[in-house]
Amino acid sequence: MKTETYNKKKSDFRLTPNLEDYEKTYKTFSWDQTKNEVDWFPKNKLNIAYNAIDRHAESDKKNKVALYWENESGEKQEYTFWQLKDLSNQFANVLDKLKIKHSERVFIFLPRIPELYIAFLGTLKAGGVAGTLFQAFGPTGLLDRLSISGARFLVTNRELAKRVYEVKKKLPHLEKILIVDDKPRHSGEIDFQEEMKTADTKYKIAHMDKDDYAFELFTSGTTGKPKGVVHGHYAILQEHMTAKWVLDIHDSDICWVTADPGWVTGIAYGMLGSWSIGASLISYDGRFDAAKWYELLQKYQVSVWYTAPTAIRMLAKAGIQLAKKYDLSNLRYLASVGEPLNPEPIRFGLKAYKLPFHDNWWQTEIGGICIANYPCMDIKLGSMGKPFPGIIASIVDDKGEELPTNTEGNLALKPKFPSLMETIWRRPQKFKSYFKKGWYITGDRAYKDKDGYFWFIGRADDVIKTAGERVGPFEVESALIEHPAVADAGVIGKPDPDRGEIIKAFCVLRLGFHPSQALIEDISQFVKKNLAGHAYPKEIEFVDSLPKTRSGKIMRRVLKAKELGLPIGDTSTLEEY
Ligand code: AMP
Repeated sequence: MKTETYNKKKSDFRLTPNLEDYEKTYKTFSWDQTKNEVDWFPKNKLNIAYNAIDRHAESDKKNKVALYWENESGEKQEYTFWQLKDLSNQFANVLDKLKIKHSERVFIFLPRIPELYIAFLGTLKAGGVAGTLFQAFGPTGLLDRLSISGARFLVTNRELAKRVYEVKKKLPHLEKILIVDDKPRHSGEIDFQEEMKTADTKYKIAHMDKDDYAFELFTSGTTGKPKGVVHGHYAILQEHMTAKWVLDIHDSDICWVTADPGWVTGIAYGMLGSWSIGASLISYDGRFDAAKWYELLQKYQVSVWYTAPTAIRMLAKAGIQLAKKYDLSNLRYLASVGEPLNPEPIRFGLKAYKLPFHDNWWQTEIGGICIANYPCMDIKLGSMGKPFPGIIASIVDDKGEELPTNTEGNLALKPKFPSLMETIWRRPQKFKSYFKKGWYITGDRAYKDKDGYFWFIGRADDVIKTAGERVGPFEVESALIEHPAVADAGVIGKPDPDRGEIIKAFCVLRLGFHPSQALIEDISQFVKKNLAGHAYPKEIEFVDSLPKTRSGKIMRRVLKAKELGLPIGDTSTLEEY
């Protein structure tokens, strides 16, 4: 197939790109040379939160708005760097009063509200490990994550706390629940606002080592429980450099990173990297709505916009005419992540906003962008781009041997780089399993072309990406079999033109239950309520049995091949079907 290329023109740039010559920089770059782009305390210590907020609060940017916040009902708030410094200091003092220990986890289960940002930054300042839980999680999803983390502290609101209380008995270590919008009603609850009122705005920020743990995010693989991916304070260097060179953020920019802080993009760029540059961020607590999104882009005069293919496809569906109703003339740089960005949404961007979307690739475990399209580089539509300076990427076979160009294989990165995870929480063997023959194996299949551009092919495992969110099939299967009618379940990602993939479940019913539309609805709602609002099956099909290996593992690729009408492939290990 012929590659379509978008050649950059001088007129594409309203500001000179921060990175002007990719090839030259790639050849000469070292992380050590750029080390001083972030601020260090004496003795090689640092703190992410200091770099994101305080260093600007102590500069002439102190009164600059760091966060413009708005919600669906139209409430608005603004926080300067100075205010965020004070508020996060206050939260760090609250944690100290509660006797937080070095590297103790503080989980935040909140909608996208200012308290989320304040609690996250304050935890880092106090030397704790901040973790976010996406607001759509239900009791079972929370139970797994909170029990693995062993967290003593949780910050939440009254509404979401109800889901936590459904499983609280199974979380003996969870001692303190800080409620942001209500008075304490249960033992162990703490009034967040009341504590903040009396807390000092001064705080001596914890000086952390590069590899001291800073934040933990759960993500899903193919099997087993979700994994706690832990990142160190040094991740800020890569988040800063990529915000600067990939997202091309200048400190005059107003950025909108549409990802929720429950996921890694919402943390690394919806907070840390972008703030580290000194840019203003906007945060919108509301559902997707094309007109509302354009209104926000217009009102806040957004200049850098980092979003995801599903959102772009939905905007394309809403039509170019809608885009034309708004003044989007401040937009100057567009980027996308999370799923393959095929040529069509890029073409839409060019028509609707007169700008190309720049695809980039990374994942929770690697904490910052690793492969990207850069402002100074021509775009081959559909390619993820080239490795970031300081990142060595390659395609390797299953033994870890490098493969020639234009050959499909496993996308691999050479460790170590600043934002690569430090560990998988309490699972050192799992952490080790990511590495083979000196490579970090990403779990994605890809190839590299003769010009060094990387092209995504698919996941090497059964992990599902639905609307850009990563869902482990095992977790959904486990939730399904909790339903009284379901004896067994197999779950796959089914290609979908809008959402990339949707979750499809194949269920075997228990004796006495019969297929019906009402039962499909009931099972689907059951998973939505218990596991998560974003991880329930949109399609359910009843089957008599599931294809399994002799050792009892579900062969999801057989389910997927059948669903898509593709050849089933090697079935030598198949037990029955
Ligand atoms: P997460 O850890 O949830 O951020 O998901 C990471 C996974 O999303 C990657 O391993 C890929 O499978 C997929 N992904 C992320 N960015 C891209 C991209 N630009 N193109 C294709 N797939 C992507």
